[in-house]
Amino acid sequence: MLKTLFLNPPSFEGFDGGAGSRYQARREIRSFWYPTWLAQPAALVPGSRLIDAPARGLSLEDVLPLASDYELAVLHTSSPSFPSDVRVAEALKEANPRLTVGFVGAHVAVLPDESLAASTAIDFIAGNEFDYTIKEIAEGRPFEDVDGISYRVGGEIVHNRPRAILEDMDSLPHVVDVYKRDLTVEDYFIGYLYHPYVSVYTGRGCKSRCTFCLWPQTIGGHRYRTRSPAHVIEEMAKAKAYFPQAKEFFFDDDTFTDDLPRAEEIARGLGALGITWSCNAKANVPYETLKVLKDNGLRLFVVGYESGNQQILHNIKKGMRIEWAHRFSEDCHKLGIKIHGTFIVGLPGETKETIEETIRFAKQVNPHTIQVSLAAAYPGTFLYDQAQENGWLLRSQDGSRLVGEEGIQISSISYPHLSHQEIFEALGDFYRAFYFRPGKIVDMTSEMVTSPHMFKRRLREGAEFFRFLGAREDAR
Ligand code: SF4
Repeated sequence: MLKTLFLNPPSFEGFDGGAGSRYQARREIRSFWYPTWLAQPAALVPGSRLIDAPARGLSLEDVLPLASDYELAVLHTSSPSFPSDVRVAEALKEANPRLTVGFVGAHVAVLPDESLAASTAIDFIAGNEFDYTIKEIAEGRPFEDVDGISYRVGGEIVHNRPRAILEDMDSLPHVVDVYKRDLTVEDYFIGYLYHPYVSVYTGRGCKSRCTFCLWPQTIGGHRYRTRSPAHVIEEMAKAKAYFPQAKEFFFDDDTFTDDLPRAEEIARGLGALGITWSCNAKANVPYETLKVLKDNGLRLFVVGYESGNQQILHNIKKGMRIEWAHRFSEDCHKLGIKIHGTFIVGLPGETKETIEETIRFAKQVNPHTIQVSLAAAYPGTFLYDQAQENGWLLRSQDGSRLVGEEGIQISSISYPHLSHQEIFEALGDFYRAFYFRPGKIVDMTSEMVTSPHMFKRRLREGAEFFRFLGAREDAR
């Protein structure tokens, strides 16, 4: 077995762009997702080590001395961080020319030729689901015998046949063993989750076909391939024992509620373990299921509402009706399930009026907290092709300019009737309109006064949030 380093490369300060972040950027407040996509192959390669440089606050100088300790380095990259990840690969290779360097992640899966052409420091790229691909390379198999990789032979780029989609999800070892071995759970923050939290996947893929959504269109597919409830519960029992300090567990499956009977079965198992948990959900879960989940420890849903305009929801193939979202939100409020609602400004069909409509909708469904993003066209998505065909894309065409110099998301789409500047400005307006109203201020303040921990945390996040808004003002 090759001595293998799995690396989330150092990047912009506070850059949440690693192997677990869907939309890579520096956030409004300090955020780091677990590098689960790297932890999974790390769990298959005995003796490997996983380093998450951004979350640990490690610089290139910190990780460079490791180059000589390893024979194989697997770097997770993304569209916004690719140029800087290439620089890291080149520095590692210079420090140890015998090191084999592989890149993984949706960006290289979609653009294998362009990625390999970017630097000879990259020896191979692994497409789509790369768990067993990396395992085989770590076992020392010749490149020509490994499905799912692209590499160079004598200056020519060769693409091996694609790796078969993984069907037996229970064959994947538990990632929490790698978390315990290599990560510090306190490094991971998400504004709407308790701290510290621990996050895993119980399945891959999403049944929906939202045109902007990266993972189902690149790495996960449109079938929800799942681990058995028993396999999940076994891992969560372990996680509870490993991380007694964890205040909450999160299931970061694209849509955990895509299979309702299974979600209920897992919930009952979690209820028996007595843990608090949260997950991603679509705004179409019936009341009866909500009740089962809530009664078994569910605390919060992350819900992608995206827009309050029905036509835009059609345009992006959300498969959602505004009235369903209203009913679902009311049911959650009734049951005491908190919601973190996510919205996007600048999707196809957006106008100044639809932005106003979405802000009104957000206030009506009234999630506990929100996140507003700028529409971003990632290579490999329907939206990216649509934006290219219609001439909506600004700046670089390869998606690498989705964030600015500081890693903060920039508006990369512009329409003849709605400029990228107007879209950019709408984001700050959206946040102000949602949070700076009496009901919400009371809501947030009462949360602070009931918990000293929350008090300290919200103060810090508040300061970061105002700094973020200030930085955006400067960019106007
Ligand atoms: S429902 Fe969510 S995870 Fe699924 S495709 Fe749409 S945005 Fe992506």
